[in-house]
Amino acid sequence: MPVVSPLSHRRVELAPTSPGTVQAVSPGSFAMELGIEQGDRILGVNGNPLIDALEFQYHAQSERVSIDVDRSGSILRYELELEGDEFWGITFTDPTFDGVRVCENACPFCFIKQIPKGMRRSLYVMDDDFRYSMLYGSFVTLTNLSEEDWRRIEDQHMSPMHVSVHATNPDLRVALVGNPKAGGIMDDLRRLEVAGIDFHAQLVLIPGVNDGPELDRSLADLSSFGSRLLSVAGVPVGLSKHGQERQSKQMRLSRTCMRVLPDAQRERVHVRRYEPEEARAVIRQSEGWQARFLQERGDTFFHLGDEFYLMTGEEVPPTAHYGGFPQVEDGIGITRFFLEELERYLHRARPGILQGQAGTVACGTLIAPTMTSAVAAFNQRTGAILKTIAVENRYLGPEINVSGLLGGSDLTTGLEDDPQTGPVFISRTTISDRTGTLLDDQHLDDVARQLGRPIIPANTMSEVADYLRRHRPAIRRVA
Ligand code: SF4
Repeated sequence: MPVVSPLSHRRVELAPTSPGTVQAVSPGSFAMELGIEQGDRILGVNGNPLIDALEFQYHAQSERVSIDVDRSGSILRYELELEGDEFWGITFTDPTFDGVRVCENACPFCFIKQIPKGMRRSLYVMDDDFRYSMLYGSFVTLTNLSEEDWRRIEDQHMSPMHVSVHATNPDLRVALVGNPKAGGIMDDLRRLEVAGIDFHAQLVLIPGVNDGPELDRSLADLSSFGSRLLSVAGVPVGLSKHGQERQSKQMRLSRTCMRVLPDAQRERVHVRRYEPEEARAVIRQSEGWQARFLQERGDTFFHLGDEFYLMTGEEVPPTAHYGGFPQVEDGIGITRFFLEELERYLHRARPGILQGQAGTVACGTLIAPTMTSAVAAFNQRTGAILKTIAVENRYLGPEINVSGLLGGSDLTTGLEDDPQTGPVFISRTTISDRTGTLLDDQHLDDVARQLGRPIIPANTMSEVADYLRRHRPAIRRVA
């Protein structure tokens, strides 16, 4: 349950018990030179208590800095005169000292409301924290910002932000975000633009709701922003079978917000998954906009999530289409990125370099046909004997078919009949950077133990090749 942070008086979760704790100090950094150590707690800068790492970065760049540090109960004070561009090199155990700010929304498609019990604790946190948007690229709705937050974003120039827009039609956005405060999205984005803050926008698309004419309206409205708007992405709504049942309370809350919609539109807000034909129509609609953006902005600018292409069997667009992959961390263009990297690797790899080396590539069912061809090309060039296994998501339901949402139990079940004994390669997106666990809270080492095989997270086939090369069986010389 969310608590109120004693530091910021906001509703938060995962509030650290020891805020401001230093997790690591980079070698050669200014903090190391000062003697700041792992385990120290930074209490404040210039007499101001800190609520997050960003505030530390901001205040610690002044000309005169006084830092209070708690080292095992003793308070140390560092009085410094600085040049203003010091590399502090401090990593905090928790970047937000007051916890993670929770959302005030009730989106009818909220994935967190669809997941069963027993998963990673952090997955249940309905975060909507603008600080994580800047630090890690999390998408935020901006509905929970106070005037104080806005001033901080502006004054400290917190850029870039990643904004969940969904629709620019104010009434429709209120319904889709489940919050009466959500209707002012264009004003919010304009405020970011005026403050010189860069931002990316994302639209979670729902068939018949915010695609078609509403998508045209959203893209026309968003195209009124200049170069501060870096990219727009459209991703299909993800709904598990159980999700529809589990999110009934969320749907009720959301319906309260839908009351603001005209009757005809309210009827249309029904959340369901895309059928291939509908996905194809979104691709065609997007192509028109991409051609227009290419002419007007010199960039396709609007990108669709890979699922749209994979579920229709259409080829994912070429690399040039993605304009530098601005939202690849969110999976936009990750398939093309992977294939492009594979091609480069195959071009430079010596034929037969991995002759006879065996292993398994385990992936979600959506990417499996593409992965099977990629692995076949890899085997053909290198001589490796890798096999692709499409792992069904039993944990969340087979409708959830992306590799990044597989649990440890899915891997053990999906690979139990695999006669291979070599390593299992999985997408790095399956593992939490923070906890090293899979979605069902199983640690990678435990899953590997159950399978009796090493499990290797990798994002590219070069990484796979690299692992195989380093673990080549030793050749015994017979005298
Ligand atoms: S999807 Fe909506 S309701 Fe769910 S956490 Fe995100 S903002 Fe909150």
